[in-house]
Amino acid sequence: MKQLTVLGSTGSIGVNTLDVVRQNPDHYRIFSLAAGQNVPVLISQILEFRPQVVVVATESARARLVSSLTESSLGRSEWPELQCGPQALVAVSVASETDVVMSAIVGVAGLEATHAAVIAKKRVGLANKEVLVSAGRIVMDAVRASGAELIPVDSEHNAAHQCLDGANRREVTRLLLTASGGPFRTTPRAELENVTPAQALNHPTWKMGNRITIDSATLMNKGFEVIEACWLFDFAPSQVQVVVHPQSAVHAMIEYSDGTVVAQASATDMRMPIQYALTYPERGPAPVPKIDWTRARTWDFSPPDMNKFPLLGLAYRCQETGGSATCILNAADEIAVESFLKGEITYLGIAAVVEETLERMPNRQACSIGDILEIDKESRALARRLIEKRAGAVSPPAA
Ligand code: NDP
Repeated sequence: MKQLTVLGSTGSIGVNTLDVVRQNPDHYRIFSLAAGQNVPVLISQILEFRPQVVVVATESARARLVSSLTESSLGRSEWPELQCGPQALVAVSVASETDVVMSAIVGVAGLEATHAAVIAKKRVGLANKEVLVSAGRIVMDAVRASGAELIPVDSEHNAAHQCLDGANRREVTRLLLTASGGPFRTTPRAELENVTPAQALNHPTWKMGNRITIDSATLMNKGFEVIEACWLFDFAPSQVQVVVHPQSAVHAMIEYSDGTVVAQASATDMRMPIQYALTYPERGPAPVPKIDWTRARTWDFSPPDMNKFPLLGLAYRCQETGGSATCILNAADEIAVESFLKGEITYLGIAAVVEETLERMPNRQACSIGDILEIDKESRALARRLIEKRAGAVSPPAA
């Protein structure tokens, strides 16, 4: 029986992780659940999975959780221990009771706890892509030093992990990451200026949290994945190629020196990579219906339009530049996406804000997670100022 700590249990990956646990009650139990603010979902998870410890982001979320627990069917003696804040996330991630940490908080809020879990040599199922995008060198150094198992949950990297398992890495010359192309794959560039948040949130193949869905519409998400892949599998950016594959059935491919390509295909459902990250090197029964090979199907592959999606090219350049460039990229994008969702900037404004933040922030060498969090904070503040300036430029305040 393995005990899990799920960081981000109320999110899309968290909910899917708990479904895998639900389907395998003899193999996994929940030690701890951690979430931000969504108390209604958290309460139902507590009632079903009965964790020992629950962490929420703030004191006010904790207070709401206390009043919901008081009204619930649980007697006071059956309540989990309730904690809040970043240090509590670290504590549950390194606790001796935790065998596996599912890192599924969105953004750098999950970075410290994931890094701590790696140092504590836990198995980490890594969904939170901001961890490697912001702090790839520091986290991978920690993986090598501790011997922790970092199993990617992002479907493309999980597929790459499967393709590379047992491969002679020196004979692998290229990694191909597939991209659905997002909701604007066929939209002419001229029409992108006016797209709304609702249109951008309408992802054709995956149901995910808001940030990653918008990042999928700009292909920033694919850029982050290129960066993640470089760190996880030790590829140069030029060895990682993005291929648009709207059906999202093939998740990644590796190419050998002789031109042979090995691909991983599976159902388009995050419970596949989540379960793999829990069971590796073994495999469990299929958590979702398998691909039905008795039905005819067509799979398309084409190159991405780098002009229409400039953030993808920017991600390559940031990874080549190194230093703090990818940390700044992530922070600026998070703020720009937030502003787009609030209607403060346009869809094309996201790339403009990210580019300008990168131009203005000095590139530094981060030596610790503390340095990363400081660079992240400064980059966010600058991105916010740039957004305010743009808003002022568009509609000056009335005299
Ligand atoms: P969601 O937005 O659906 O969920 C995010 C989770 O993080 C929620 O549980 C949220 O809690 C929690 N959270 C946010 N801030 C804090 C905080 N300060 N402290 C504790 N918990 C916090 O995101 P997804 O599940 O879609 O994505 C999670 C991560 O996985 C992202 O990094 C994403 O890029 C990556 N990923 C997701 C994929 C997917 O299919 N969804 C695929 C590949 C990668 P609450 O809602 O309660 O506030």
